[in-house]
Amino acid sequence: MNGYHVPVDRIMRAMHVAGLGDVLQLPPFEGIDTDAVRDVLQGFATLAEEVIAPTDREGDLHGAVLDHETGCVSVPASFHTAHAEFAKGGWTSLSAPSHLGGGGFPGVAATATQEIFGSANLALSLNPVLTQSAIELLERWGDDRQQGLYLRRLLDGVWTGTMNLTEPDAGSDVGAVRAVAEPLDDGRWAITGTKIYITWGEHDLTDNIIHLVLARVPGGPAGTKGISLFLVPKVMVDDEGHLLERNSVRCLSLEHKMGINASPTCVLEFDRAIGEMVGPVHGGMAAMFSMMNPARLAIGLEGTAVSERAYQQAVDYARERRQGRAPGWAGEGSSPIIEHPDVRRMLVSIAASIDACRLLTFATAIAADVARYHPDAKHRVAAQRRVDLLTPLAKSFPTDQGVRNASLAVQVHGGMGFVEETGVAQRYRDVRIATIYEGTNGIQAIDLVGRKVARDGGASMAELCDDIDTTVQQASAVGGLETATASLVRSLAALREATDWVVSQGGASSVDVLAGATAYQELAGAVAAGHLLIRQACDGDPVDIARATVFAVEHLDRVALLDTVRLGANTLAAGLGLA
Ligand SMILES: Cc1cc2nc3c(=O)[nH]c(=O)nc-3n(C[C@H](O)[C@H](O)[C@H](O)COP(=O)(O)OP(=O)(O)OC[C@H]3O[C@@H](n4cnc5c(N)ncnc54)[C@H](O)[C@@H]3O)c2cc1C
Repeated sequence: MNGYHVPVDRIMRAMHVAGLGDVLQLPPFEGIDTDAVRDVLQGFATLAEEVIAPTDREGDLHGAVLDHETGCVSVPASFHTAHAEFAKGGWTSLSAPSHLGGGGFPGVAATATQEIFGSANLALSLNPVLTQSAIELLERWGDDRQQGLYLRRLLDGVWTGTMNLTEPDAGSDVGAVRAVAEPLDDGRWAITGTKIYITWGEHDLTDNIIHLVLARVPGGPAGTKGISLFLVPKVMVDDEGHLLERNSVRCLSLEHKMGINASPTCVLEFDRAIGEMVGPVHGGMAAMFSMMNPARLAIGLEGTAVSERAYQQAVDYARERRQGRAPGWAGEGSSPIIEHPDVRRMLVSIAASIDACRLLTFATAIAADVARYHPDAKHRVAAQRRVDLLTPLAKSFPTDQGVRNASLAVQVHGGMGFVEETGVAQRYRDVRIATIYEGTNGIQAIDLVGRKVARDGGASMAELCDDIDTTVQQASAVGGLETATASLVRSLAALREATDWVVSQGGASSVDVLAGATAYQELAGAVAAGHLLIRQACDGDPVDIARATVFAVEHLDRVALLDTVRLGANTLAAGLGLA
């Protein structure tokens, strides 16, 4: 019941609908066709099903362990095998350019492997997610030496990477970072400060860890403008990459969490740890953003990944568990609960949501590929605008859905869902973090209404809405899609009206817009994901039509959200007795 089967066909289908064909036309991907992408996914699916997924339960039960004397963290032995196979297969560098020794595949193919890894073992998957983000950061901001020394080994999976923003007083407010970096005579820096919640900040999977750390250099401006980025290795290295002495960074403790137990979440103390600057002085936030954007996409994907695993468990359970007699059941005795209409309602609701979330993520990843590799600058700029707009949606929508879907999967199990033995409770515990870290979904909503919508007067959102009009036209000609299309038309009109209101009120500078930002994000996320699901159904496949219809009536018909968007800050304050 805990086995995981990778849905390669559905993943390929989603990639196709999201625009894989266009990406494969881009110059760097000459020679790669859809079959090559499928072969790669199939190869990764075998690793995920046979090697990674079986480690998941052990990780949940035994977690990561800190030796307080040495400051070393150990993870289950099975993780070492899984990590070694992952590194040996070259999976870390699947989408890195060939000239850097990477696989040269589009980013969307790597995104698909991230989903699969997340379904197989979410806690372990965070390690390559952070490493992948560090790779993208160093590709863009690292100098030749840093690329030669560190990037190569991260790509090979020999070392892993971390992201160090959070401090006790600097969570959502990154500008409050206090860690300091003092210049040394040789051009390097001494970093001092405490970072908390650092994912895979210490472990025994590899013999070095490359920490990317935000800190302030003396005399810089306050807030985010005075923050710089530093590369701090756990173990110092010479110019050939040979390991030298331990750097003075130490894991003080591990958090006890409600989920992802085997992902070590570390309090790290930097005590004049030696580091080197990455990117320009005071340019830390810009550099970190190139790590945060792919990380946000990857965290969004966790919602889909966990939903998929939970869905498979719920379907298996619903086929086995027998209770009552469903209407029309002609078999012996009680019927399997999958025969009950209300159980089917829950299962198809999860299935439809998974497809929609997957499509939204792939569409964002494909826009990122176009933004990076299209030969025409105008196309690159337009695609980057789309990535910027979709990123908060691709982070928030699938993670909110992940929590909902895992909860539904628990519900399908009845009492056994609440009992740890079936394993579905782990999905619910594991996925809960995804709406919180990498910028809470509330912070994503503020980013959306401010930087992504109001700043350009709603132009990027208007472009997206115009694209969705094309889906409406396509879908209008397809028999069976009437209900879904009508919902899309209504919700698209609501989104346009809400966007005009957000822009007219001045975006994130308005307290009323802030009060409705999450509702706006939910509306935009549902429309952005839902129209892709409807587009997927346009070739008339009955499964796709049914799923598009279910998603539309459950999530798209959110015209009422328009009222929530415009509810206003006074109502919220009054409801708390604070007005
Ligand atoms: C398991 C785990 C792993 C993590 N991994 C990493 C990591 O690898 N590296 C790293 O640097 N960090 C990491 N984090 C930290 C994570 O990114 C933060 O927890 C997250 O950004 C929220 O910050 P906070 O916990 O301080 O919450 P707070 O900032 O205190 O937020 C509390 C609540 O207030 C809301 N809020 C805060 N400010 C505002 C505002 N201006 N407007 C509206 N609402 C607001 C939030 O949305 C939230 O609902 C991790 C955290 C966890 C739990």
